[in-house]
Amino acid sequence: MSDPRTIVAVKGFRDVLPPESEGWRALEDAAAAVFSRYGFAEIRLPIVERTDLFARSIGETTDIVEKEMYSFLDRDETPLTLRPEATASVVRAYLESGLAQREPAARLYYRGPMFRRERPQRGRYRQFWQIGAEEFGRDDPLADAELLVMLERYLADVGARAVRLELNSVGDARCRPVYRERLREFGRAHLEGLCPDCHRRLDRNPLRILDCKVEECRDIVARAPVMLDSLCEPCRAHLDAVRTLLGQEAIEYVMNPRLVRGLDYYCRTAFEVVTDTLGAQNAIGGGGRYDGLVAALGGPDVPGIGFALGVERLAMVTGTAEARTAPPVVAVLPLESRAIASAFQLATRLRDHGFTVALEAPGRSLKALLRGADRRGARLALILGDAELQAGRATVRDLARHEDRPQAVAIDASGPDLARELAQLMDAAS
Ligand code: AMP
Repeated sequence: MSDPRTIVAVKGFRDVLPPESEGWRALEDAAAAVFSRYGFAEIRLPIVERTDLFARSIGETTDIVEKEMYSFLDRDETPLTLRPEATASVVRAYLESGLAQREPAARLYYRGPMFRRERPQRGRYRQFWQIGAEEFGRDDPLADAELLVMLERYLADVGARAVRLELNSVGDARCRPVYRERLREFGRAHLEGLCPDCHRRLDRNPLRILDCKVEECRDIVARAPVMLDSLCEPCRAHLDAVRTLLGQEAIEYVMNPRLVRGLDYYCRTAFEVVTDTLGAQNAIGGGGRYDGLVAALGGPDVPGIGFALGVERLAMVTGTAEARTAPPVVAVLPLESRAIASAFQLATRLRDHGFTVALEAPGRSLKALLRGADRRGARLALILGDAELQAGRATVRDLARHEDRPQAVAIDASGPDLARELAQLMDAAS
């Protein structure tokens, strides 16, 4: 016996329906357009990777690897994981494809779903989408500045509102260990006020106490020493050079000395795009330089820098869906079954010539058909009833003005003639 209950989506996994999906496509199209001006080409990546890839790249001690990955054994017992992020995959592909040798200075961008078993809430899902970009082979400040200008231009292009770019330097393998010890000492001196997670972090990865979300920890951390005061000379010079270039292009950003990327291979430039309009989920995206990652994944010592933006959150601050101007729609209304063939012919020809056409089902009253056309946002309706079939011409109704046009459209006009005539009628209607 079949189960009469309907099946619903898995918790934290959601559908993206029109018009939201239209807004998403606009975000993706804009990414393709803007990023390509900076030399980035798209890479399409698999969704499933070997679990090792993330354990090695994201780090065993992170929340993601410790508790948020969707991991499973394949039928042959290979441990696999639904990717929680894409940087590791891009690096894997960069090495596996031989790009690392052929074109070490590769610039790649991606878009697609990521999976993390977090507690779902507004702006936080278990399947969410990212648009991201990664650049390899450059460790000079110009590469950082270019990437940040590209990010800023992209956000402006999609009309992101109330977002701000925050910048920091997290030092490098030389100066960060010194800072880490300073931070550990500070944390040990304030142990009683810190949460159990932070106790653990102090042992394993003290930098992570800087982005703890617990109120008490945040109060304490506000007084902690910051990396900016511990930068070695080359890291300081790198940061100054990036800031000079950003200043030259009048990029707005704020320095946030508490901004960290928790992983060892992140170095120097770190940044986030944040907003105050989404409550707790205030990060729209983030990124930074990761000069040790390619080597950590078994490749040559190639530097890298990149970012990832969350599409759900980006859509919330852009409202692209509403802003999009809908294409003009022509409705073709067959009043009775006899008109089907002619209606179908008109609709197909118009669609062939770039019009968006709503072809209604026959057999309803003119009033009902007109209501349907209105609902679909049509400006003009081509009405096909008995009289029209006999005359070989469809009546043209201006839906905004609620009146018929004096001129009718020849049903068997050629495609180009039809398109020309409709374009003129549309112009007059708008
Ligand atoms: P991350 O890879 O953690 O730096 O995340 C980059 C961006 O992806 C974040 O700033 C968010 O916009 C987005 N993001 C991360 N996790 C989630 C999630 N669980 N649900 C929705 N968006 C997310």
